Amino acid sequence: MTGRPPSVDYIARQLAGTGLPHPLLVDAARRAVSMSSGPGGQLEPEEVLAEASRVAWELGRGLLQPVINATGVLLHTNLGRAPVAVDRPAGYSNLELDLVTGRRGDRSDHAAALMARACGSEAALVVNNGAAAVLLALTVLAADREVLVSRGELVEIGGGFRVPEVLAQSGARLVEVGTTNRTRLADYRAAAGPETALVLKVHTSNYTIRGFTESVEVKELAGLGLPVIADLGSGLLDARCPWLAGGPPGWLAGEPAAVQTLAAGAALVTFSGDKLLGGPQAGIIAGSRDLVQRCRRHPLARALRPGGLVLEALQEVALSYLRRDAGRTVPLWRMAGTPVEVLRRRAEAIGAGEVVECESVMGGGTLPTVAIPSAGVALPGDVTSGLRRASPPVVAHVRDGRTICDLRTVFEEQDQALAKALAP
Ligand SMILES: *Cc1c(COP(=O)(O)O)cnc(C)c1O
Repeated sequence: MTGRPPSVDYIARQLAGTGLPHPLLVDAARRAVSMSSGPGGQLEPEEVLAEASRVAWELGRGLLQPVINATGVLLHTNLGRAPVAVDRPAGYSNLELDLVTGRRGDRSDHAAALMARACGSEAALVVNNGAAAVLLALTVLAADREVLVSRGELVEIGGGFRVPEVLAQSGARLVEVGTTNRTRLADYRAAAGPETALVLKVHTSNYTIRGFTESVEVKELAGLGLPVIADLGSGLLDARCPWLAGGPPGWLAGEPAAVQTLAAGAALVTFSGDKLLGGPQAGIIAGSRDLVQRCRRHPLARALRPGGLVLEALQEVALSYLRRDAGRTVPLWRMAGTPVEVLRRRAEAIGAGEVVECESVMGGGTLPTVAIPSAGVALPGDVTSGLRRASPPVVAHVRDGRTICDLRTVFEEQDQALAKALAP
């Protein structure tokens, strides 16, 4: 015999301690009660309550929340790419007010102006993400006209960004140039005609072609007499990395950067805010004042614009680069540059599992062949599901039958919480 299941309202009230709003607790209670009355159900009242509590816990885990990234993937797409600080009380900002004149301002006056300064460009515009930056630039500058792209650069970035499809969406006509492995300046020259609006140079950010290859640098493309738009994607600001005391790390070699690409003659560069720039999700279009202005005035710009919170976070990042202290103040660069010895000492202090050498990667569809030496702790078997249940949840990888927690992507102030989650 089973007792009468408790009422949905009674169960929901019993779960009030979870902190979830009442309607969500009612959903959890309904699900538990329906399980109890469904085929094969017949749960005891305490079991219904326990089931409702489990469902409510899962609903709570479905909310956005801070997690400890122990994967060693610095730009983890599932974990929001670059880690950014958002620490600000409710309040207004001068988003579109010029505080000097008291007149209407422009949301491009702050973060975008600083990004332009940091890129060494005349102007810049900030949009929602890298894909939006490419879409807007192509729509404004090449709709109903032809765009030349090397066959070696028709890339797909994870999550459905495919260069040919973005081009089609913009209304531009793709003209494929050269071959998959070799494209020469003469190929571009032969393909250019009266209908050509521009040359699009796309950084093959998430793959490499090795062997018998040839591609054309922006500097040479600029000599064609057509505007060159370089979609850099990953958003390394300056190949010299003046914000790092030791200069550019070896693993950045060959990564195209905004400053150098613009200096080489690109009319515009586009890149993401949350990849190697280390900022919030955003897309940056930087380059000639005239072209940026045309992008800004297009109706699509309004639909693609970011909110004030994003612009505030991006402004902080731009200021860090201009102060040249991004190596310390932009978390991505601080994490990427932490010496292995420091990570090893932290791993020892964690006091759980075995201290191991491991390799971090940049991730986020950047630097596909790069491994950064790192250190962490290893636990036998796959304990990732238990770690995800910790508070805060810990996300880790399994390698060769062991769970590895790479400390490079764990903030030092999270070490104690990690140690607690790892404790037997
Ligand atoms: C990442 C990337 C994009 C898309 O940027 P999102 O910010 O993810 O929208 C576009 N082009 C290239 C080359 C990229 O690497």
